Amino acid sequence: MRIIELNVRGTRRRLKKKRVAVRTPGGRVVYHYKPKRHSPARCAICKKPLNATPTGPKSFMKKLPKSKKRPNRPYGGNLCPTCFRRVILKKALKEGEALLEGDVSDVESV
Ligand SMILES: [Zn+2]
Repeated sequence: MRIIELNVRGTRRRLKKKRVAVRTPGGRVVYHYKPKRHSPARCAICKKPLNATPTGPKSFMKKLPKSKKRPNRPYGGNLCPTCFRRVILKKALKEGEALLEGDVSDVESV
């Protein structure tokens, strides 16, 4: 059985589902409508799947409150906890360096 995958925009049914052309034993080509698969949310840096980020059809995601869609912290739903920690540490260190340099220049000028 030869399967040709198509994803053609059209009616609501076609928008929600993936159209797959299937050749029947009789030789006809008919379209089967398969539900779309939803990939998990991934970390922007290491591409690992994120925890506490449900995926599903829009009808399901719409019903969830925002707090149930991603962790409620900076970079929640964008970075995994390890990458988040690294980014925050880097930022803090840079800020500290800038502060130190600023203080030193102030002292020298005065
Ligand atoms: Zn990561």
